[in-house]
Amino acid sequence: MCQSEPSLLDPILLRPLLGSYAGRFDVDALAVCDSTSSELLRRVDAGAPSGTVVVADRQTAGRGRRGRSWLSAPADSLTFSLLWRFPGTPLELSGLSLVVGVALARALAALGARGVGLKWPNDILLRRTGEFAKLAGILIEMASDRRGTQAVIGIGLNLWAPAGELGQAAAGLADALAAGEPPERHAVLAALLLELVRVLDAFTVDGFAGQKSEWQRWHAWQDEPVRVVEDGRELLAGTCIGADTDGSLLVRSERGVERVLAGDVSLRHA
Ligand code: ATP
Repeated sequence: MCQSEPSLLDPILLRPLLGSYAGRFDVDALAVCDSTSSELLRRVDAGAPSGTVVVADRQTAGRGRRGRSWLSAPADSLTFSLLWRFPGTPLELSGLSLVVGVALARALAALGARGVGLKWPNDILLRRTGEFAKLAGILIEMASDRRGTQAVIGIGLNLWAPAGELGQAAAGLADALAAGEPPERHAVLAALLLELVRVLDAFTVDGFAGQKSEWQRWHAWQDEPVRVVEDGRELLAGTCIGADTDGSLLVRSERGVERVLAGDVSLRHA
């Protein structure tokens, strides 16, 4: 399923870029994989430690939410999954995809990206004239046992805008940078992992509450009109007033403030 041919990414070159955090990660780089999250879930079953990272140049079955696919091409994207263990139950981890978004936004901004915004619950957008285009996606899957909960955090970042029809606007990191081209991939992965370890450590202590105000600063549609849809059907329309401490989305509609839980729903700008 996953082959160990030489990969574009060399964990030995990554190590010095992680500085004092290098010991928190165990990075395996693959040329080809079905999905880095599927591979990591298999490794969870085999007892992989927290901080295990699987990065792959090419995914043959990259996944989004609810069976949707994530498309990527080796030189144009960075796709990886990170295993993180938390004490407690999956229910206590609501808000995890939001803090992962904060980590990505911080890291991309530190690399010089401008116009990055977060879309609840799991997308990183790039603000362009008149529209938002999807720059990265996050997919979180959880498994729990008596020691706590393992989260497999899957991330797909476009370095260059993907070619082909995706059904929605897409952008690459290159589009967000003055240089017009992305930094070298080891530098990008290191920047992402360094912010991830910081937000995940903070999340373990304070949950989403500790990072809610920062999430709202990155939130692309804060105080803007939105629609909540399920299978193309509108469930709710109103003004998006942010996220609650449990990670749910708050929308002010004619009926008052309504809470939207991440699940089968999608958010659209109205
Ligand atoms: P939601 O709004 O519910 O989050 P979504 O359409 O963003 O829905 P996800 O599961 O988050 O769904 O992501 C999968 C979707 O992202 C695909 O259906 C496709 O439209 C889009 N997509 C797939 N690959 C890429 C990519 N490389 N860059 C940008 N968008 C992509």
